[in-house]
Amino acid sequence: MTEHCCEELQEAVDNEAILHAPKQRMFGRILNEVDSDYAVRSAEERPSLYLINFCPFCGRAISRTVWNAEKKK
Ligand SMILES: [Zn+2]
Repeated sequence: MTEHCCEELQEAVDNEAILHAPKQRMFGRILNEVDSDYAVRSAEERPSLYLINFCPFCGRAISRTVWNAEKKK
């Protein structure tokens, strides 16, 4: 069973291509305003984190930023 939206994302998290953690507990510098538990990270010692709104594989919304925007409609 997968906790992510699709197997590709699960694999990316397993391979650490994509970071999955609660935003407050992410290690590194968050460089954008997206409220998400998923982030793309640089390979530096103190990584730069770019939180992402959408799954890069299946395109589903994976951030609270998008969920909250949808709710307001
Ligand atoms: Zn996905």
